[in-house]
Amino acid sequence: MKKSLVLLAIAPLVALLAACGASAKDDGKTSVIASFYSFAWVAEQVGGSFVSVQNLTSPGTEPHDLELKPKQVAAVQDADVVLYEKHFQAAVDEAVDQAGRSGEDTIDADAVLDVLPVQEGAEDEDSHGHDHGEEDPHTWLDPTNMIAITEAVSARLVAVDPAHAADYRANADDLVARLTALDERLSSGLKTCERRTIVTSHAAFQYLAHRYDLTQVPIAGLDPTNEPSPSQLGDITKLVRSEGITTIFTEELVSPAIADTIAQETGATTATLDPIEGLSEDTGDESYLTLMDKNLATLKKANGCS
Ligand SMILES: [Zn+2]
Repeated sequence: MKKSLVLLAIAPLVALLAACGASAKDDGKTSVIASFYSFAWVAEQVGGSFVSVQNLTSPGTEPHDLELKPKQVAAVQDADVVLYEKHFQAAVDEAVDQAGRSGEDTIDADAVLDVLPVQEGAEDEDSHGHDHGEEDPHTWLDPTNMIAITEAVSARLVAVDPAHAADYRANADDLVARLTALDERLSSGLKTCERRTIVTSHAAFQYLAHRYDLTQVPIAGLDPTNEPSPSQLGDITKLVRSEGITTIFTEELVSPAIADTIAQETGATTATLDPIEGLSEDTGDESYLTLMDKNLATLKKANGCS
C-alpha cells in the first residue's frame, strides 16, 4: 500500500537514477556500490570526482525489503568497492555472498562498528521471513558511527586507487570535521529537555537515542512494514498520555496512518523524523547533514529542549 503510493511519486527520480547509473566502470573512475543513501553519501563525499557511486536503493523506496535487479547483482560483483551493512538488507547480503567478494574490497559496516542488539520490545513479531539477525542495523543515525564509516571508506579508496590517496584523505578529514560538528550540535541541543522519550514510526532511532540519552518507543519494529498489535498500540497510547508526549514522529517513506491515529487519540501532533534510509521527492535536495539538523530541530521542539 505504502509502496504503490510512493512509486507513483518517484517515477521521475527512478528514471534519473537509471540514466546516471550506467556504465560506472567505463569512465575511468573507481566504482563504488553503496547499499542505501546514507552510505552512498559518505562514498560520494570521500571519493569526490574520482569515484562513481551507485546506490542500490532507488530514491523514494523503503530500503529494508529491497529487491535487486539482475543488473544490480552483477554490479555488486564488478564494483571496485562495495559498501553495505550486513543484517540490514537481506537481498544485498545475498548478492555479496553470491559474488564471493573478498573482505578486502568490501566494507561491511556491521564489522566496522559496535552494533547494538535490537531494542527490547522492538523485535519484529511478524518478520515476513526476513532475517534481521539479533542486531539493530540503524547505525548511521549516530554521527560518530558515520565517522568510522568515513575512515573505512577512505582507507579502502586509498588502497584501491593510490594515485588519488591525498585527495581521499583530505576529503575524509573534511567530512570527519563536519560530522564531529554535527555530533556537537546534537549533544548540546539535546542536553537539557523537558522530556527524553521519543515515539517513532519504526525502531530506527536506537543509536541516536543511545548517543544522546533519549528513550525510543517505536510504533513498528525494526522493519517499518510490520504493524503493531492492538495491545502494543494501547501501551503506546497510555505512555503518550502519562508522559505528556507532544509529538508522534512519522517518516517520509512510511505510511503515517498509525501515527496519525495515536496522535488523534491522545491530542498529540505529528512531525517528520527522518531515519535517512533514503531520500524522497520532498527531500531530494537534502543531505545526511541537513536532514540530521532538521531532526535535531524537530526533536528540540517536540521534547522542549532549551
Ligand atoms: Zn529502518
